[in-house]
Amino acid sequence: MSLNTDLIRQHAAEINIEHAVFNALDCTVLSRQKLDVFVLIHKIDTWSNVIIKKSSTNRVTINVACLFLTDFLIDAELFWARNESGILNSGFWTEQLSNGNLLHFEALACISAGQPILIIKNVAQVFAQQQRTLQAARETLISNETLQQQVDDTHQRINETISTDSDDMQMLKTISNTIDKATFGIMVLNHKLNPILQNPLNYRLFQLKDPGQGGTETPISIIFDLMKKQYPEYQRIFESATQWHGELYWLAAPHYVKWLKVSIYPIKDTLGKVTHWVLYINDISRIKHLLQHNEKLAHYDSLTQLPNRQLFWSIVEQNCMHQEPFYLLYIDIDNFKFINENYGHAEGDELLIIIAQRLQKLLKKEDVICRIGGDEFAVILKNVNGNNSDKSCMAIAQRVLTEVNIPYKVQHKDQLLITASIGVVHFPDDSNNPDLLVKYADLATYNAKLTGKSDIKFYSQELQQKTAQRISLENALREAINNDEFEVLLQPIMDIASGKIIKAEALVRWQSPDAGRIMPNDFIPLAEETGLIIPLGKLVFKHVCRHIKLLQQLGYHHKVSVNLSPKQIYDNSFSPFVYHTLTEYDVPPEQIEFEITESSLANNFEVVLNTLQQLKKGGVSISVDDFGTGYSSLAYLKRLPVDYLKIDRSFIIGIANDGGDQAIVSAVIVMAHSLKLKVIAEGVENVEQLKCLTEMNCDAVQGYLFSRPVDLNKFTDFLQDNSK
Ligand SMILES: [Mg+2]
Repeated sequence: MSLNTDLIRQHAAEINIEHAVFNALDCTVLSRQKLDVFVLIHKIDTWSNVIIKKSSTNRVTINVACLFLTDFLIDAELFWARNESGILNSGFWTEQLSNGNLLHFEALACISAGQPILIIKNVAQVFAQQQRTLQAARETLISNETLQQQVDDTHQRINETISTDSDDMQMLKTISNTIDKATFGIMVLNHKLNPILQNPLNYRLFQLKDPGQGGTETPISIIFDLMKKQYPEYQRIFESATQWHGELYWLAAPHYVKWLKVSIYPIKDTLGKVTHWVLYINDISRIKHLLQHNEKLAHYDSLTQLPNRQLFWSIVEQNCMHQEPFYLLYIDIDNFKFINENYGHAEGDELLIIIAQRLQKLLKKEDVICRIGGDEFAVILKNVNGNNSDKSCMAIAQRVLTEVNIPYKVQHKDQLLITASIGVVHFPDDSNNPDLLVKYADLATYNAKLTGKSDIKFYSQELQQKTAQRISLENALREAINNDEFEVLLQPIMDIASGKIIKAEALVRWQSPDAGRIMPNDFIPLAEETGLIIPLGKLVFKHVCRHIKLLQQLGYHHKVSVNLSPKQIYDNSFSPFVYHTLTEYDVPPEQIEFEITESSLANNFEVVLNTLQQLKKGGVSISVDDFGTGYSSLAYLKRLPVDYLKIDRSFIIGIANDGGDQAIVSAVIVMAHSLKLKVIAEGVENVEQLKCLTEMNCDAVQGYLFSRPVDLNKFTDFLQDNSK
């Protein structure tokens, strides 16, 4: 504030006050005599009549039309009555003159030498300056968005170059051309986080000498150091290969201050393994400087008007300091990038505003909701009731998900659906350290996203251990795919009528050099979640083709059925890959069957239908696996190009003595036959079961009664025995 209040306070008590000073400060100064009556100490002629009215010689009252000032006087009366030191400030207000012009004022109440004083100041200049600051800040915010757009565009080019250029030297040359022209810092790091390329701007940003000119500090060492201190989730970002955007505050001794906006992107190979990291660093000190001149902009998000990350931090810290228990919820909107990319940033912004409003409506007055990142919100929940507060907190989190899930009407779409993932921590149960709380909330959210999104996860130590195990298992699995540590076993499927092996199901095992044989249940779900099922599925398919080829050489032309995961069905490249590989290994498509689980039919039927039709066209056959465990409608089954139903083992176990199972299996067989489908019973373990199935007219059986899944050599032995 440019008003030199100390000066005024000191002088206002004196009768022979320096009028010149008040004139210079554009202030009218009044001394309070009694309620609503003042003595005029100094008057600015040009505008005082708008504010005050003369009541008698030298006595004035406040114009009752000045509602804001009248209101302020109520507080001022209390302030004067308390006889406190200091100054009570009204904040800015505006009055309109009869000619339509606007005047901006500020009122101050203070006590000087026991006398209540009211100062009214014309703040036209300050107001104009503040407006300019606001305007500049808004413009800078917009230019900040433009910066982000430039970062996104540049990143797309770099990503394409790194992902497609196998020649390292050529790749570096192409990128080097791109980044030299950039107006912000860009660094390309290898997977060990060592820079292999960066533009000189990085060194200038950190006031460092150019590389090779000495000094142990480098731009990347400073950035990592700042991240460690300012972002507790730092480690997790790199361990889990996640994209990250954030702001770093850099204070270089003795007095050099910078704000940096940093974006970090992992670049992955086809197996999802990180080969490089790319960092983009923008100096946003100017915008921060402008923002800090305006408290509202410094602490509140300009889009949603919610407290921003800075204010969020200080609220968390304060709450921890006051030892008041609270829950911290991180709410992360799922697939928000998709919305921005497909509907544009303006629509994305509009959605964020609606989400913020919906969340605000849900929460109590004492709860705090903040926008802490692009598509991340945080909620601090206090006074969560009762002994079972986790349960109450869960109920609130569920309400948040429900609220977010309500379809959105945006410009280009009437029914846009959005989901969110929520991570929850409790102070002080999970930690009494604000840094750790935030780190744990991030970890819990990360886990919520892993389990298929639209989920809520509470932090626990167990969750932390599981995350670490999962990350290491994921890396091991990636390596295993890279090194092909997999073996494909075959389990015979017998025709009941002839007793002959008609085909085999391919079942994968992981032969880890460290952990030994790992069963599918322990790695297939992870492969599904991480998308590694795509390269793994292709690897398995190649194994199967090799097996078929070897069997052909021995004179066997049996069909092999291969399990297909839902992700593979949705992968456009799968069908072309299949036929390319069949040609490569010279395997006729008639020797391949794909098994799809009943549950994968439930989602997006048209896509499934399309993929299956494409596969089928080439000559492979299709079976529905684990039949009976899902809810496939007969109408769907009729439309799908399916050849076999495989009845789930859970119905076969009790078939010899459970009337219910018998009825179901028998009905499924009749139904399948009427749809011209053949039936395979899975998990047949004893002769009683086989007898029942034979009586029910089942076509084929598979299970331990005949053979476990075996390696290729054993399988050929079976074939040999079986063909006798
Ligand atoms: Mg199967």
